[in-house]
Amino acid sequence: MVIVLKVCHLYPDLLNLYGDRGNVIAFYRRCQWRGIEVKVEEVNLGDQVDFSSYDFLFMGGGSDREQNLLASDLGEQVENLKTAIEDNLVVLAICGGYQLLGKYYLMPDGTRVPGLGILDYYTEAGNKRLIGNIAVNLQMGDKEVYITGFENHGGKTFLGSVEPLGKVMSGNGNNGTDGHEGARYKNVFCSYLHGPLLPKNAAITDYMISQALKRRNKNFFLNDLDDTFEKRANSVMLERLL
Ligand code: GLN
Repeated sequence: MVIVLKVCHLYPDLLNLYGDRGNVIAFYRRCQWRGIEVKVEEVNLGDQVDFSSYDFLFMGGGSDREQNLLASDLGEQVENLKTAIEDNLVVLAICGGYQLLGKYYLMPDGTRVPGLGILDYYTEAGNKRLIGNIAVNLQMGDKEVYITGFENHGGKTFLGSVEPLGKVMSGNGNNGTDGHEGARYKNVFCSYLHGPLLPKNAAITDYMISQALKRRNKNFFLNDLDDTFEKRANSVMLERLL
């Protein structure tokens, strides 16, 4: 049976900071290099969307102004997204996209941007931006991995009942105080790491691809690729940061 993975790139023109579209390209390429067919669809402001028809949803980073623009756009489609997430849709939400899945984002000027309220955390602007290279330790399936990236956010995120994605080894993470980075719920992976995250961290990309495939066919096995270059780039950054 030929599986064609369907990817939803949500608000590509608004949530598009720091080259985050590279995450969609990395997901697509690491499938293509394995002969796995992928169809990428862009969903923009005002579009109708059925999230249950996708295998992977990507939401990138955005400026405060853009986030405010799209906060109420999904409207009644939030329930559709919640159902897809409970059905183990694989989601990667970076920075502004991460903040959007939570309860709210209180901006520096006091504007309170409502989130989609799907995951239990909130974000409030701090008095200085959290900027710099970052290294995080986390568990991906049965593998312990160290990921690296770049963070640039004014918002500080505080988790409620959801688990963090990982532990900050160098850098700030969610809020610069609790040592956590990102959030994880079922197959939803939230992170402040730009870079973009997936091209710099092949193990995460492959884990998301395998989760998306297993959701379609639980016996699917993902073959390895030659990641010599990716592993070298990752270890150079880890040596620099740790
Ligand atoms: N505007 C949000 C903040 O400053 C998110 C920034 C981003 O997506 N890099 O926290």
